[in-house]
Amino acid sequence: MSRLLLDRVLAGVPHGETPLRHVRELPERSAAFADWPSWVPSDLRTALARCGVERPWTHQVAAATHAREGRHVVIATGTASGKSLAYQLPVLSALSENRRATALYLSPTKALGADQLRSVRDLDVEDVRPASYDGDTPMPERDWVRAHARWVFTNPDMLHRGILPAHARWASFFRRLTHVVVDECHGYRGVFGSHVALLLRRLRRVAAKYGADPVFVLASATVSEPAASASRLSGVPCVAVTEDASPRGARTVALWEPPLLPELSGENGAPVRRSAGAETARIMTDLVVEGARTLAFVRSRRGAELTALSARHALSEVDPSLPARVAAYRAGFLPEERRALEKSLADGTLLGVASTNALELGVDIAGLDAVVVAGYPGTLASFWQQAGRAGRAGDGALVVFVAQDNPLDTYLVHNPAAMLDKPVEATVIDPANPYVLAPQLACAAMELPLTEKCLAAFGGQTAKRVVEDLTKDGVLRKRPTGWFWTSRERPHASVDIRGSGGEQVAVVEADSGRMLGTVDPGAAFTTVHPGAVYLHQGTSYVVDDLDLETGLAMVHREDPEWSTSPREQVDITVLSVEEQSRHNGVTVNLGEVAVTSHVVAYLRKLPSGQVLDQVPLDLPEQTLHTRAVWYTLTDDLLADAGLTKHEIPGALHAAEHAAIGLLPLFATCDRWDIGGVSTALHPDTGEPTVFVHDGHPGGAGFADRAHAALIPWLTATRDAIAACECPAGCPSCVQSPKCGNGNEPLHKDGAIRVLATVLDTIATSAPKSKAS
Ligand SMILES: [Zn+2]
Ligand SMILES: [Zn+2]
Repeated sequence: MSRLLLDRVLAGVPHGETPLRHVRELPERSAAFADWPSWVPSDLRTALARCGVERPWTHQVAAATHAREGRHVVIATGTASGKSLAYQLPVLSALSENRRATALYLSPTKALGADQLRSVRDLDVEDVRPASYDGDTPMPERDWVRAHARWVFTNPDMLHRGILPAHARWASFFRRLTHVVVDECHGYRGVFGSHVALLLRRLRRVAAKYGADPVFVLASATVSEPAASASRLSGVPCVAVTEDASPRGARTVALWEPPLLPELSGENGAPVRRSAGAETARIMTDLVVEGARTLAFVRSRRGAELTALSARHALSEVDPSLPARVAAYRAGFLPEERRALEKSLADGTLLGVASTNALELGVDIAGLDAVVVAGYPGTLASFWQQAGRAGRAGDGALVVFVAQDNPLDTYLVHNPAAMLDKPVEATVIDPANPYVLAPQLACAAMELPLTEKCLAAFGGQTAKRVVEDLTKDGVLRKRPTGWFWTSRERPHASVDIRGSGGEQVAVVEADSGRMLGTVDPGAAFTTVHPGAVYLHQGTSYVVDDLDLETGLAMVHREDPEWSTSPREQVDITVLSVEEQSRHNGVTVNLGEVAVTSHVVAYLRKLPSGQVLDQVPLDLPEQTLHTRAVWYTLTDDLLADAGLTKHEIPGALHAAEHAAIGLLPLFATCDRWDIGGVSTALHPDTGEPTVFVHDGHPGGAGFADRAHAALIPWLTATRDAIAACECPAGCPSCVQSPKCGNGNEPLHKDGAIRVLATVLDTIATSAPKSKAS
């Protein structure tokens, strides 16, 4: 079935195009069942049977048994492998046996929490009283939840702002707390993950005050090193269950690269590929015509709508009954709307759905005939989760990955092993980041005074230094029994655990006063400077005024024929070198840097790429203290590689862009989480240098991860550039959408030579070093 579907899709490819880069057959896997453990109460077994669970799979019982016996556990298995049952068994058993026990469930999104709460409610186990407690819970209900609910479903934001600072009101809940469930824990990465890690330490400290020592049960997508990641996140040693015993149908995975379109040209005359969204709409059209239930994952909400629209349009020419069977799905739907749509896709009323990543988390859609993934979803874990929506036991399914025009996607379709044979990346967090520790420790001290002993859980010496700094600044006060929070006001509200970097800038339409959206303060100068064209859900606005003091960008509706792109001067200063290795003319460094950026002007450009003019801007400089990895190489090595003085800046710049594009394959970051600077002569190193730095104050662990994976990372970067068939650089290899220099100068071939020189020099001077 699956191979047949692929043949049908290939038959629809326009003449002369050869987009298929690789096909892989993934074999079928059959289920392994276990008996119900004797400790599962018979009422619960009956309830599960009523909801369709006749027998558990072995991995569910293995994880549940660990938790039952008091071991912290992480279950890291694929989509639709029944991870919920693995925590429902120990939690519901404990709550049934001890009518006073309580449990806490945490999910990164409200939608997932709502789904999980519904499934526990459906089981209807006597006296459990599950309830949600989040920003939407009405005030009168909150009192009831605190007093009576025995299984509380919430999210990290509410735990941080609502529950922990008011722990005294939750005293009876905490006193009886036996289990903490952390669902979809691979979603906690970067700055957000670092905050959540410290939040969980705060939770354990508060529980301990009331005499509770809950067992942690974490659920994760398949990731590498799940036990280590879960232990780092929760702060307690976790055992991992990874053997997935759920059944799975055979799947055909196709890697697809949209063709270059000879008639179009983009920035600086670069060739343009057909967009991943347009290609996806075309593939979905062919699949729907075949009657295959198809789910397409598209990066943006607008993209999902356009994909559905264009598939509908194409289908209307085939059969007038088909367009109605295609829909778009996105975050922001009401729960009833989501369920109605899921149901129609499950029963085949709907054949094609284009979705944003909203569907990725936990929603009950599986067993489809085909999944199309348009653009790399950021992590391999997400890719496999999306791909996991396809395939029922005994029935084949098709998965198509369509590359977007960026270097990472290019690399993946040309190096299938990196996508299909590699263990999923470990989650990167850095709970020792002082910029995360300081506000978290302030919150912790407000909840309960900090003692020497409890600092150990927050990172020992680093935490102690941060607490001493907070004391010096008058935020905390040292007393004989510990460090105390002294202000009347709680610090919690001003701590943004999602890590968007301080107060958001609100984008407001001046006429109506309507708030259109928010922008990260760090990105405000590049995205909502005066004169910037700002797009919001497909409508175009122009910025009149940006005021960082009040956090407001005022805009008016206007649809000019041009777009704007900022010109930015970025300087980087080395503050400290923590690690350095030298290899005959190449050095590799890790350390702290200050990145100073200054948006000096913007260009107005026509869709053809033609630049109308450059408009100067008068904006202040911004400085970011963060962590970076950087390499240098001597002028002699560059000359040996055949690069002239004139070519060197473009070669380094192109190597920097592509390296930033490839890093998400090695660290669980987004290319927007990191930045770079390259220069033919850096004052601090005295040599040609390429820097890649974390985009968050203090870093989120990405530069450290890049340093640890330097060789495979730069190797993949070189291979990605070499694989792109464009003549002199395009968005699929060395152009970057966030370049503050208008993607100039760039030297594609020079970048390959720079990277090859760095890699060869390291390999020959110290054959065993750093190959991680
Ligand atoms: Zn290219
Ligand atoms: Zn650039």
